[in-house]
Amino acid sequence: MRYRAFRRMQVWDACSEALIMFDKDNLDDMGYIVENDIIMCALTKQLEAASDRVTVLYRSRAVGYTWPYPFTMADSSPWVHVTLGDGSTLQTKLLIGADGHNSGVRQAAGIQNVSWSYDQSAVVATLHLSEATENNVAWQRFLPSGPIALLPLSDTLSSLVWSTSHEHAAELVGMDEEKFVDTVNSAFWSDANHTDLIDSAGSLLQYAVGFLKPTKVSARQMPPSVARVDAKSRVLFPLGLGHAAEYVRPRLALIGDAAHRVHPLAGQGVNMGFGDVSSLVRHLSAAAFNGKDLGSMSHLTGYETDRQRHNTALLAATDLLKRLYSTRATPLVLLRTWGLQATNAVSPLKEQIIAFASK
Ligand SMILES: Cc1cc2nc3c(=O)[nH]c(=O)nc-3n(C[C@H](O)[C@H](O)[C@H](O)COP(=O)(O)OP(=O)(O)OC[C@H]3O[C@@H](n4cnc5c(N)ncnc54)[C@H](O)[C@@H]3O)c2cc1C
Repeated sequence: MRYRAFRRMQVWDACSEALIMFDKDNLDDMGYIVENDIIMCALTKQLEAASDRVTVLYRSRAVGYTWPYPFTMADSSPWVHVTLGDGSTLQTKLLIGADGHNSGVRQAAGIQNVSWSYDQSAVVATLHLSEATENNVAWQRFLPSGPIALLPLSDTLSSLVWSTSHEHAAELVGMDEEKFVDTVNSAFWSDANHTDLIDSAGSLLQYAVGFLKPTKVSARQMPPSVARVDAKSRVLFPLGLGHAAEYVRPRLALIGDAAHRVHPLAGQGVNMGFGDVSSLVRHLSAAAFNGKDLGSMSHLTGYETDRQRHNTALLAATDLLKRLYSTRATPLVLLRTWGLQATNAVSPLKEQIIAFASK
């Protein structure tokens, strides 16, 4: 089973010694890295167990939607009609659009989507470590070209997510295995992007922090080295940001990437989708309990408010980090070096970051 709990997270800058270490004093698990196939398998089992109430139409595609127009009078016309590729139609009082960042549901409803493409693609791969380890740390290093992350899957396997320029990503996917493995190891280990000025400024702040607040300062640790890459596991995904101006309309709710698309540097995309599901279930359960129409705006807006508050903050923070770390300009490298060191020294702030990311 390719899933693993992680107990620490080390994030560090390739242009300086600055790092931030997230862990819990009691060595509790901070989160899990779970391969997508395992999530799909678990969901399929749940759907099979609910087969008396849920019908799954595999290998079918929604090709058209008819809304109870105008939306303002939707409550008097209860059905949304969905046309499938084979010409058949379905009707529902609440359509949930969970069809990804190019959502056809969102487009058919005419909901505005703020979006832009990043100048990066992410290369993902399953990597074999040189030797078996406890492998319970999530590693991420910010290179000038983009972040590279090594996420534990088992004693000997980790998952790679390397965001970099489109050209470099294509090059990484096409490389022979030996060169690819060397390039990954060097991306984690090499200090070629360090400069004396930044290193001295970083040491100065580190010394000042230690003087003002003499606590144990986390030393930089190195991730395990990689020996091999799973054949055919290397693929790339172009990256972008997207946010729907509205998550709900009468008889419609958007969830997951249909509502928001985020850079993978914070590993939050699926978590945001799970948060949407949990919030929507809560609001719909309350509506059902009170005998209300599930497609009515009276409770759908509660879902939208809950989730937009959380998701917009995460999208903004992730976009800011992406921009702040995409430069070698000395003033910005200094700013982020000091920012990271200062944040690392303030435990309550780190605890709040962990709590927010886990919501
Ligand atoms: C490189 C990379 C790394 C990532 N790493 C992480 C990570 O570590 N942690 C994390 O939490 N997130 C991560 N993410 C984000 C995560 O992958 C997405 O947030 C997540 O997949 C979104 O799920 P979704 O179900 O909303 O959309 P999708 O995964 O896009 O699924 C949409 C589904 O709808 C189906 N569909 C679309 N149109 C139709 C139609 N007309 N009819 C029928 N079906 C349709 C599609 O076939 C698809 O199956 C990463 C993303 C990338 C690109």
